[in-house]
This record gives sequence, structure tokens and C-alpha cells, in this order.
Amino acid sequence: GKTIGILGGGQLGRMMALAARQMGYKIAVLEKEKNSPCGQIADYEVIGDYRDLDKAEELARISDVVTYEFENISLETAKVIERMGKLPQGSLLLGITQHRGREKRAVESLGIKVAPYVLVDKPQDLFEGVTKIGLPAILKTCRGGYDGKGQWVIKGQDDYLKLGKELDFGQQYILEKMIPFTKELSIIVSRNAKGHVTTFPVTENIHQKGILHISIAPARVDKGVEEKAKAVGISLARGLNLVGTLAVEMFLTKDGEIFVNELAPRPHNSGHYTIEGCETSQFTQHIRTICNLPLGSTKLLKPAVMVNILGEDLEKLLLSLEKLGDGHLHLYGKGEARQGRKMGHLTFLGDTTEEALTKATNKIRIFLNNIS
Ligand code: ATP
Ligand code: MG
Ligand code: MG
Repeated sequence: GKTIGILGGGQLGRMMALAARQMGYKIAVLEKEKNSPCGQIADYEVIGDYRDLDKAEELARISDVVTYEFENISLETAKVIERMGKLPQGSLLLGITQHRGREKRAVESLGIKVAPYVLVDKPQDLFEGVTKIGLPAILKTCRGGYDGKGQWVIKGQDDYLKLGKELDFGQQYILEKMIPFTKELSIIVSRNAKGHVTTFPVTENIHQKGILHISIAPARVDKGVEEKAKAVGISLARGLNLVGTLAVEMFLTKDGEIFVNELAPRPHNSGHYTIEGCETSQFTQHIRTICNLPLGSTKLLKPAVMVNILGEDLEKLLLSLEKLGDGHLHLYGKGEARQGRKMGHLTFLGDTTEEALTKATNKIRIFLNNIS
């Protein structure tokens, strides 16, 4: 059988690998540490940094097709594999999503709204930016951030005067206006090289301390909003010539306006519910896109609620396993249960969204917060 190579050994790689396995593929993974979540279940482990071109080439040589589970792999690595003819997703979209400024321009160029923003290279830009877009605002590193890392909320003058002195201007930042959203939504779009596009149901996401806490599918929004979110996803997939998976994070305002927050060129945490909740999971669909197979149905089988299990919650969860009932437990095989580290997730299905939410609330009340 064919071998699929995955750059990165985290939980997304692991779930891609599980889906690929079921389809008869072998798995090779490139990751710094042995025994990573994906490495544990792979046929071949290449140990090394994904910035190491020799290691990336080694992965590509033993693989028929290569994908990535993480958008911060080096672009150079991606280009080398692309030139070897083994990266069907290409490197263009990856390059766009690696830099928040470039990503925002790409979204805007398709006529889709993003929060007002300015790029910040020096303290002066920050002060001028605040004047231009107003407060509250949020400053983010242009590259490398995830789970709210590398972000600062700016509410008043004290905040930005202090920040202006503390920042490391060896890198670029972006200042965004805070959007007073009523909900955060996401949509996952898949497209293969033949141009076949599918979207998964629009999901509603609740974050805590910058980390995704709960996803609810379908999102509790009216039909008009759902259609608009779907149209945004499809425009981006077509406009950016997507091959693979694209997750689109959005803000919904009280007037029903949608702003794109950010893009991820890969399966996404807010799509984990698709494993049990949809006819085809986001991971199976991803493998289909990169192997240029016909895409599957994304039909929702049942409303779903997904809850992330962070390091600080793992022990409580393990002590109350008997309460889980028909909750679907996924643990990623990570070692140390550090604070804020994603150790696993749980998915609850119901006949209605309310039922799925009630199940989640009753069964894991111990660490479920802020469901509204
Ligand atoms: P991820 O882990 O999803 O990759 P990230 O670290 O890249 O996250 P963002 O998605 O940019 O960060 O921001 C994290 C969260 O902070 C958002 O989900 C949202 O709750 C809040 N946030 C970010 N930007 C804005 C904004 N412009 N207006 C309002 N809230 C925002
Ligand atoms: Mg992000
Ligand atoms: Mg985000």
C-alpha cells in the first residue's frame, strides 16, 4: 500500500493517521521526539526537526504523499517536498497562513471582512495604530502564535505604553480592533485537486483563556448566518485554490455580520466532533483530498458537543470515567499533563443540540465551564 507522510507528530497528525490507516495506508511521521501522539501509531518514525531539510527529504522519500498537521513547519521544507512532487496541498496557502498580515490581505482581497488592523514594526506604529483603529484592541505576533499565545489585549493608554517598551521588535506584530462578537463560529472546507468542495456543518466555539473549550455543532444561529458562513468558507477555498482542508474561524456580531478571524490550512480542533458526528470525519476527508479521491458526505448524523480535556483537567476526568456513559473519549497519548496542554477531548451526541449540551453538562460538570 501507499505511505502517507505527516510533518508533525501531535494529535492532529495522530487523528489523520488513524483515518488513513482505516483506508489502508501506511504512516510515516517526522517529529522532534520519539513516541509522539502520532509517532506511537505510525509505521515509520523519522526523528528530527521539520526545519531540517535532510529529515524532511527523508520523510518524503519513504512517503508517496506528504501532508502537515501544523502550519508552522518551515516554508522551505514544504517547497522542497513540493518540488519532489509529493505535496499535493502545495506551499502557497501555507505561506499565506503563516503570517497574519498576509492572511488578512488574502481574505480581504476576496471581498470578505476582517477586523480593522495595522501592521506594527516599531513602537511608533503601535501608538499610531491605536489612534487609527481605537481601543480596545489586540496585538498579536504575526507568526507562530496558537492557543492565544503571543497576544496582548490593549484596553487603555497604560497598556500600550508599557507594551511598546516590552516588545521584541526583531519580529512583526499586528494590531487588530477587538470585535464585540456575540458568537465565535468556524467552518471547515475541504477541496481536492479536481475542484470538488465540501463544507462541514458550521460550529459554535467557546474559548477560555484563549484556548478552545467547547464546540457545538450545529451552531445555534439562524439559517441566514449559517448560509453566510458557508459561503465565506467556499469563497476562500475557491479563491485560495485550496487542495486539502481549510478551517475558517469567524466572529459573528449582533447585526449578523461575519468577520474572519484566522485561517488554519489543516483539520481543526473545532472539527473533532465530525469523527462521531458526521458521515465522514474531517480527518478522513483530509486524506481523501490529498490522495485526490472523491470526497465523502459531510452530513451531520446527530448534533454534537465537543469538550477539550486540558492537562489540569485530566486527573479529575480519569477519576470520574464511570460517569461518561455514551460520551466518546479520545486521549492523545501525551506524556506530561501540563496546564493548558490539550490531552484529549470528549464528544457527546444528542437528538437535539440541547440534549447533547445537557449530557455534556451532567456528565462532566466537574470541569465544564461557562456553557451558555
Ligand atoms: P488558535 O489556537 O485558534 O490558533 P490563536 O492563538 O491563533 O488561536 P486567535 O484565534 O487569533 O489566536 O485568537 C484567540 C481568541 O482571542 C479568539 O478565538 C477570540 O476569542 C479572541 N480574539 C482574537 N482576536 C480578536 C479580535 N480581533 N476581536 C475579538 N476577539 C478576538
Ligand atoms: Mg491560530
Ligand atoms: Mg484561533
